[in-house]
Parts: sequence; structure tokens; C-alpha cells
Amino acid sequence: MDTCRAAVITEHNKPLTIQRVPIPKLDPGSLLVKITASTLCGTDVHRWHGPLGDGDTLPIITGHEPCGLIEEIAGQRADILGNPVKRGDRIVWSYVACGSCYYCAVALQPCICPGRASWGHNRSDQHPYLLGSCAEYMYVPKECLIIKVPEEVTSASAAASACAYRTVMHGFDRLGAIKSHETVVIQGSGPLGNFATAVARDHGAKKVLVIGAPANRLEVTKRMGADAVLNLEEVTEEKDRRRWVRDHTEGRGADIVIQVANNLAVPEGLTLVRGGGRYLNIGAGGKANIAVERLPQEMLFITVRSAEPRHWLQAIDFLASRKKIFPFEEMISKSYSLEQINEAMQAMASYAVVKAVINLQ
Ligand SMILES: [Zn+2]
Ligand SMILES: [Zn+2]
Repeated sequence: MDTCRAAVITEHNKPLTIQRVPIPKLDPGSLLVKITASTLCGTDVHRWHGPLGDGDTLPIITGHEPCGLIEEIAGQRADILGNPVKRGDRIVWSYVACGSCYYCAVALQPCICPGRASWGHNRSDQHPYLLGSCAEYMYVPKECLIIKVPEEVTSASAAASACAYRTVMHGFDRLGAIKSHETVVIQGSGPLGNFATAVARDHGAKKVLVIGAPANRLEVTKRMGADAVLNLEEVTEEKDRRRWVRDHTEGRGADIVIQVANNLAVPEGLTLVRGGGRYLNIGAGGKANIAVERLPQEMLFITVRSAEPRHWLQAIDFLASRKKIFPFEEMISKSYSLEQINEAMQAMASYAVVKAVINLQ
């Protein structure tokens, strides 16, 4: 059996090792993809530090944000738009929902399907072995929908669209239209926050205000279309941040607040929404309590989990069609080789980089 190199978590909190992992035989309709780039995400770091949920047993190939070139296809496949795909095409691919449970078939909310499959937490010693993106190859199950990556989108940006960016697209989808008189406040200036800034700008917000840190990230945020940014490290009092938002919104609060930091930001974020406004909660992790009696009247609270296949396509389309408007590449802060995986994971864990990419080209 052929093998390929992969970055494997064998013990939580211990250095990852580069191991040779079997390349599986392809089932009908499945693909083998040669990875060109894998971006890292906070979830990869959390999973390295300890198991996330019952399904996580080691060893695991880390990473769930892949972009790659089709190496082999078992049969005929088409992309999400119905165009045939062939060896050498550069693609990203969706997660898999069961299609037949209550959430998939009745509620049409496949992101909360209990039988959903995702990457970066599967055992690397069990078939089909290659379901983590920090590896030379990945196995793409036949149920995945395929999205071709146009030439103008780099592999690193395409990889980031396989998690951060498509989740933002899903969030905006559930949020609904942004009207031209509406002000959007974004809590967070990481990859999700900066991408959300561009999308809010693009979707017609009157003003996009971003609260985040540190200063160097906020410089990127400005170039992604923010009208004003507030540095959390400089304005440390919650009441001063609230005043900043009120000053920008004639004392009402924002029409829309988008949380892309973590749950700890939610109580403050809810005080920034106007009565009747909308709150979009994307960032996960952390624990917070909400005082229900203090919620703005008639506000709408929206949460999202992951994304549907069409949001992968929307993210890739956005990167390609708005390339001249927004400097997307500035969101990827540092490139590493597969052998430098521990350096890259450490840099993500210490927030030394916004988004690290493992470059396998
Ligand atoms: Zn992710
Ligand atoms: Zn289902």
C-alpha cells in the first residue's frame, strides 16, 4: 500500500509528528486530492490541546481547511455547478450531511445533522486514513460537493474559505439583507472578522465599525473596508466602547452586531445592538451568561454552525470576484512547510499570527 506524509497528533499537547499514513483505495465516486495548501484554525489548536467531544480519539491528522489538485477520481464526477471535473483541477470540497434525517430532509438545516462528517478529527489509523488537511494527500468521500477554485484565488485563500470564510457567508445568509441605512458593528478582527468586514461593506452597509486587537490586525481590518476601528487594548472600559458605538449611531446602537471573537464577547455585544436590531453570533468557544431581561426589545439573535455546500461556493466566488476591491491575501499572515507544523501550531496558539498556512506546493 502506498503512503504519504502527514502531520499527526499522537498525544495531546505534545509535538505533532510527521508520519507516513496509508493512501486508501478509492470507493466509487470518491477522489484523491494532492493538497496544495492547508490553513490552520483555532479549532486545530484546541483539538491539539485536548479532545473536542467524544469523537476525538488519537491519532489524528490535524487540519480541516484544505485546497488541492485532483490526483485521481473513481468514476465520473461533476462540481457543484454541474461541470465535469478532471485530474489536475484545483478544488475545495464540502462537509457531508446524511441527507435523510429530520434536520437534512424536513428542516433543511443540514449543518446540525447529527450524522454530519467533517475533517481534522478522524483517526489516521483507520480507513480511509486521510481525512485531515495537513498531509500530502486527502481522501474526498463521494458525498462531498466539489467547488472548483478559479485561477485568481490563491490556494491559501481557498483553503481559508473551507472554514472561516464559508462560515461567514453562512452567517450573512441567515442574517438576511443589510439595508443601505444600516450600521454594522463587528466584534473581532481575526480572519472571520476581517472577512465579515469585507462582506458587510460589499452587502451595502452604511457604516462598518470594528472592535478588535491588536493594532496590526486592525490595519488589515481598515483595508478590508472598515469605516472605523476601536482597539480593545487601548479602550479597555466596556462603557467607553459602548459610547463609541452610540456616538456613531446617533445614540441608538448598531442595527446589526456580528460576533466573530468568542462567546465572552456576547454580553457586551448585546448592549451594542439597538432595539429591534439583529445579533449574529458566529465565534465559538468560551462561556458567558446573558441577562435575558436586559436584552434590547424585539431584537433577533441568530447563531450559525459551519456552513452548507453553497456557502463554500459563495466564499470562493467572493474571493475571486472582489479580488481587486479587498486585499484578501493580507489575512494569511505566515507560510510554513509541513515539517514546520509545530512552529505553525505554536504561532497560532500564541496569536503570533492571524492565520498560518501550511504550504505543500
Ligand atoms: Zn476552522
Ligand atoms: Zn442529516
